[in-house]
Amino acid sequence: MSGYPKVLQDLIEALSFLPGIGRRSAERIALYILEEKKERVDMLVNLIQSVKDEIRPCRLCNNFSTEDICSICQDEKRDRSLVCVVEYPKDIMAIEKTGAYRGLYYVLLGAISPLKGKGVDSLDIDNLRKRAEEGELKEVIIATDSDAEGEITATFIRDSLKQYNLKISRIGIGIPLGSQIEYADSATLEKALAGRIPLT
Ligand SMILES: [Zn+2]
Repeated sequence: MSGYPKVLQDLIEALSFLPGIGRRSAERIALYILEEKKERVDMLVNLIQSVKDEIRPCRLCNNFSTEDICSICQDEKRDRSLVCVVEYPKDIMAIEKTGAYRGLYYVLLGAISPLKGKGVDSLDIDNLRKRAEEGELKEVIIATDSDAEGEITATFIRDSLKQYNLKISRIGIGIPLGSQIEYADSATLEKALAGRIPLT
């Protein structure tokens, strides 16, 4: 690849750091960008910039948002007594796709992982506790992944909320052990939500 100008080599190098993109794909994308119309490339660059500049965590639930409070938390029609706890914003997208859930969410922004050195303090649950204290919350559905990290995290959330008078359940049925919420199909997720198991 030494025949390419330095700037093109740098772009290929930068693209190859993207998830799922190997060296060969990075080269293909870089050459595509080079040959594509300027307006299309400008649009792409602007979108990348906007995503980075405009999206921030919702102040209440940590979901992706372009405003202080995300569209789900703002939605008056949602059941505010019900919160579904997930690891990442992409899990919300998966559950929303089922169309079967009308409560709010809470995003932990991670999971406890002793192997990766991520302890309980790597989770942000202050706002969840605050919501439990305020009293409007009645039920918490824990929808962390069904792998070891997700299970440890679910136990920790349950224990953290024990002092409040809440119904706490864990989605389960149909979600294969060790799998991630974001990859479950909508029908399976819908069933898993409906067939949640109380955590005592
Ligand atoms: Zn929110």
